[in-house]
Amino acid sequence: MIQAGVPEDQAESMVCYRGEGCSICNDTGYKGRVGFYQVMPLFEELRELILSGANTAELKRESMRLGVKTMRQAALSKVGEQVTSFEEVMRCTVADD
Ligand SMILES: [Zn+2]
Repeated sequence: MIQAGVPEDQAESMVCYRGEGCSICNDTGYKGRVGFYQVMPLFEELRELILSGANTAELKRESMRLGVKTMRQAALSKVGEQVTSFEEVMRCTVADD
């Protein structure tokens, strides 16, 4: 989990579940859908970068520095909330670089 991006101090106490599966969920262990979102507020630092013609890699680096969660990080927080499994997050999101 730490390799995937869960902060070390949170990984230790994180309680994870995996659905066993039943007839209601067709033995998948999943039912319904949950959205993961990456929300990037237009901080002044980002506004300045955009106006100066920065590329997407620069915008990504600065937004992460400012604390914007990536899709994978947002999804991993749903593992900690026991909303989905770690395996499902790995399947549905790409690694952060
Ligand atoms: Zn089920």
